Amino acid sequence: MIRVIKLSVTGLLLSLSFFANAQWFTHSFEVMGTLSHVEFWLDEPTASQNDSGSVDKTNGNEKAQALIAQVEQEMFRIDQQMSPYKEQSELSLINREAANRAVTISAELFDLLIVAQHLSKISDGAFDITYASIGYQYNYRDKKRPSQAVISEALPAINYTAITLQKENSTVFFNHQGMKVDLGGIAKGYAVKRCLNLLKKAGVAHALVSAGGDTGLLGDRHGRPWLVGVKHPRAEHKMAVHIPLENEAISTSGDYERYFIEDGVRYHHIINPKTGDSARKVVSVSVIGKDPTYVDALSTTVFVKGLAEGLALINKLPEYEAIIIDNQQRLHYSKGLLQ
Ligand code: FAD
Ligand code: MG
Repeated sequence: MIRVIKLSVTGLLLSLSFFANAQWFTHSFEVMGTLSHVEFWLDEPTASQNDSGSVDKTNGNEKAQALIAQVEQEMFRIDQQMSPYKEQSELSLINREAANRAVTISAELFDLLIVAQHLSKISDGAFDITYASIGYQYNYRDKKRPSQAVISEALPAINYTAITLQKENSTVFFNHQGMKVDLGGIAKGYAVKRCLNLLKKAGVAHALVSAGGDTGLLGDRHGRPWLVGVKHPRAEHKMAVHIPLENEAISTSGDYERYFIEDGVRYHHIINPKTGDSARKVVSVSVIGKDPTYVDALSTTVFVKGLAEGLALINKLPEYEAIIIDNQQRLHYSKGLLQ
């Protein structure tokens, strides 16, 4: 369902004319286990009046529908390729076979694994897609978690340095039996980036694309900044802070997305690769920056590293900023947001 918000412009010109009736188009759909949303402004003439005086409203709507279909297709394509929940995805293939042989993968997935490896290196392993070697044993819906004995046994399989990526023939090999990888902390940001690029190529100058906690923005909201809210981590329908943004991406990682509480302890989906347990130093991290893929992964990374180390990392990355909410629900800002 496409919701068209009309911002009608007064002034009707005579026959063979166009209403200068630019519009916002918005659409939401489920993908990758989360809600995805696309919103953009089309300057195209959206209606024309022919001699008989009837109005033929196709141009803008037709173009809008085509663009929305392309965004959906791109999100579903990446879901098919990188989902840990789909047997036939490339990701599932490497989880089945890469510990036994060097698996040839698409250049696209290879390049994303290279970005993930880079983020592991600069974060001293706080971002580590092999967290899934233990991560897949958590089931937040059914409130299930691995025992400490199972974690201790599987912990050596969490080790991004044990992934061999070979550019020449685009292969990936796991130098550890039992190793698994998961792109839940980076592939949604990548999908947002791909969709923004697609809209930009089509001439769209003002757009928002989001998938769960990952949002990318093209331009401003047609004359004013986009106002993006960061959810309050402990108050369901409240925002902790609203941030005016233009032409940026923002990702939020929170311990309130996928979790359960057992004996007063919160087990959630952001795993500390060093312990195999949920990371517990902060409750929410939002990272802002130009590249949606990096922003997605950096929010998870800073969450794992905690306040001091997380801010130290972000303050070393000139193109990125962070808003961290600690366990006492105090807000902390990286230095570029304090100027
Ligand atoms: P972020 O904080 O950005 O990332 C947290 C996620 O990153 C965790 O869920 C985990 O996947 C991963 N992670 C945890 N710790 C680390 C770490 N230390 N280093 C690196 N990564 C870490 N969910 C469903 O329920 N059903 C689906 O069908 C489904 N399909 C998906 C398909 C794809 C292609 C992807 C990418 C995810 C899918 N998911 C699905 C997962 C769901 O979307 C995740 O909960 C989501 O990716 C978490 O993103 P986030 O931005 O909320 O959390
Ligand atoms: Mg994310």
